[in-house]
Amino acid sequence: MLNVDLHCHSNVSDGVLAPAAVANYAHQAGVNVWALTDHDEVGGVARAREAATGLGMRFVAGVEISITWANETVHIVGLQIDENNQALVQGLASTRNGRDARGREMADQLAKAGIAGAYEGALKYVDNPDLMSRTHFARYLVECGACANIPEVFRKYLTEGKPGYVPHRWASLTQAVGWIRGAGGIAVIAHPGRYKFTPVQQGALFDEFKQLGGTAIEVVTGSHTPDQYGVYAEHARRYGFLASRGTDFHAPGESRVDFAMLPPLPGNLTPVWHDWF
Ligand code: AMP
Ligand code: MN
Ligand code: MN
Ligand code: MN
Repeated sequence: MLNVDLHCHSNVSDGVLAPAAVANYAHQAGVNVWALTDHDEVGGVARAREAATGLGMRFVAGVEISITWANETVHIVGLQIDENNQALVQGLASTRNGRDARGREMADQLAKAGIAGAYEGALKYVDNPDLMSRTHFARYLVECGACANIPEVFRKYLTEGKPGYVPHRWASLTQAVGWIRGAGGIAVIAHPGRYKFTPVQQGALFDEFKQLGGTAIEVVTGSHTPDQYGVYAEHARRYGFLASRGTDFHAPGESRVDFAMLPPLPGNLTPVWHDWF
């Protein structure tokens, strides 16, 4: 039986485990087709591939690209990419630019809200200096007692209208899909249920994505509620998108859904991996 997980993070972005350790963790939970999809960075792919193939898993090279669409941040996953493709590598490097300055601004805002030392505090959790993320701040806000857990952090801080939110202009949809396709990959809209779009905006995103050559959306993801599995299965069928599945794993015990807890894709969908093996 295939147990496919196509969305995971290592400490090359905002996960806590090194790429080989994520491979181990996924393998122990029964995953046998696995992708590492770090945010805006492919630096962990070679180590992940080596570990995964050593464990007998099928490995899929991936990335999760941050874009700005209709003034919102959207994530586009790329699967089966050539991680050495120069346009992709350079595009990702340009996207990562500015994360450190953004982190300093986030810390300034948090200081004004009474939380001191957040830049240094978050930095302790950062392994890749190019990739300071809101997740690293969230871990510090839990550590210093400002919040009890990560979901509470994102309810009270770091999101639009709350202290510590610094808007950022990421890549465009056209760039992200272009980089992925140029690197031989498949573009997938990550956790479509997480964006605060109206139905009309969401439809426009799907249409534009499809026009650019995007072919898949995530249906079963740790970033969806169980209700949303059905909702996005229906969207995948209606738009003719392939369906993807992945935990969006960041750390043991931290993510809402761990590997073994994720249900299979609902029926009557074409999995994004249908023609891979
Ligand atoms: P950044 O790329 O720095 O804006 O950070 C985005 C990351 O923050 C996402 O990839 C998630 O790991 C995390 N994140 C954002 N919103 C939430 C949320 N509501 N709950 C948990 N993690 C979140
Ligand atoms: Mn993340
Ligand atoms: Mn994401
Ligand atoms: Mn993710």
